[in-house]
Amino acid sequence: MTRVPRSERTHNSDQTKIVATIGPASEDRIGEMIDAGMNVARLNFSHGSLEDHSRRVEIIRREARSRMASVGILADLQGPKLRLGHFHEGRRVLAAGEEVRILEGGGKSGEGEVNFDFTGFLHRVRPGHRLLLADGRVEIETVESGDGFLVGRVIRAGEVADRKGVHLPDSEIDYSLPTDQDREHIEFCNQLGVDLLGVSFVGRPEELHAIRALAPVPGIVAKIERRSAIEVLDGLIEASDGVMVARGDLGVELDLEQVPMQQKEMITRSLRAGRFTITATEMLESMIESSRPTRAEVADVANAILDGSDAVMLSAETAVGDYPVQAVETMRRIARAVESGSRFREMPRPSWRDTEPDSADAVAMAAVRVAHVLGIGKIVCFTETGRTIRLLTRYRPQAEIIALSPNEATVNQMAVLSGARPVLFQREPSLEDMLYMASEMLVVRGIADYGDAVVFVAGVPPGVARSTNVLKVHRIGEEVRLH
Ligand code: ATP
Ligand code: MG
Ligand code: MG
Repeated sequence: MTRVPRSERTHNSDQTKIVATIGPASEDRIGEMIDAGMNVARLNFSHGSLEDHSRRVEIIRREARSRMASVGILADLQGPKLRLGHFHEGRRVLAAGEEVRILEGGGKSGEGEVNFDFTGFLHRVRPGHRLLLADGRVEIETVESGDGFLVGRVIRAGEVADRKGVHLPDSEIDYSLPTDQDREHIEFCNQLGVDLLGVSFVGRPEELHAIRALAPVPGIVAKIERRSAIEVLDGLIEASDGVMVARGDLGVELDLEQVPMQQKEMITRSLRAGRFTITATEMLESMIESSRPTRAEVADVANAILDGSDAVMLSAETAVGDYPVQAVETMRRIARAVESGSRFREMPRPSWRDTEPDSADAVAMAAVRVAHVLGIGKIVCFTETGRTIRLLTRYRPQAEIIALSPNEATVNQMAVLSGARPVLFQREPSLEDMLYMASEMLVVRGIADYGDAVVFVAGVPPGVARSTNVLKVHRIGEEVRLH
């Protein structure tokens, strides 16, 4: 085996992770986006065809493999989201005071019409109820409700486009989750072999359990975007592997000014529970059309990282924007700047004492402490499910976390965790073999050198999930003798 020179170590050594949505603007640039720092590719099942998604999965896997990079794939389910139908030329400006006729059932909107891409909800809307379009950008007040149509007056003017969201905040709408369409998409995702599944509009932990039963392999990401989700946040965190601060729809359900403090609360609670967080929506929005972000956007990304996000996300910027690769590069640069500052080291983190009394927790906590006290730069951890890695990364240690797993799905899922470098590593029959073979592999891959000190975290017997119980301070290359 030849050793990879240190200069070629490119991937996943950065702490904060970047999730980028793949769409028409980025499909041909996935390799460049990985090189620029994309750790997780998001496929939004609200847009594009199934063929689009499966073609994109193939490209992502191929580009990742050719770079020996671990890139996770996050499939984002639409959930019970109401959306607009289509407009002539894809968009339309709604002027203040304008009266429009609102129809449902999809299709193209004619002159003076706005077509909703769903059926069965208009009869719930009464005169006086508000209709919020495109993440709340446009507001319409209902003035008349007829048989199969509404008449509305535009209160807040703006531009709407094909398939933008619709909220009916005053009308009684019952949702059920997963929807029939979600079930079809889950089945499709199982065949594609995605790594993470985003659950939009989740309101109850049971919904997450139901989805996990349908999709046992991927990590489950609870997208927090409903008012009712905030009320049962701890239950949703518990039932998920991680949460997404889905600020788009959340900013419609809540007053916009509530969103920043909710973001901090969600992240803090998730960190405490050993779950990861992705902060999403409009992070570098102006980069849809501009090669430079605004100062406010740069500050937003930096603050989301300081709040404790594992990952920051790009949506339209990379899906349909003019500068998909630059958007990823920009996020990477902002993250690096934050991570190199002392503030990052002082980030709020779970206290040493509020973990559950569980051996994996205790060993993870000890490993972070030992690495810190001895000034050791790497914690090498063997994991079956990735859980111990989440317990390690939540302390945001200065040491890099080398996350070794024999499960390809686990390796890809861990791409979203702050500070983790996931590596596929075969199962070994004994602890001695694990330490020896891992040490050699780290040297061959150029991740560590002979003579480097590392902290090993493992479980015995090997191959059993939830058994983390061993911590060893080890010098790479020294003889492994455990008895
Ligand atoms: P969600 O609520 O799931 O975030 P969204 O409609 O807000 O759905 P985003 O992925 O956040 O979608 O992207 C923002 C916008 O970018 C979308 O509203 C859409 O106009 C556009 N977009 C995103 N992905 C695609 C795609 N694959 N094809 C076409 N347009 C897309
Ligand atoms: Mg969105
Ligand atoms: Mg959403």
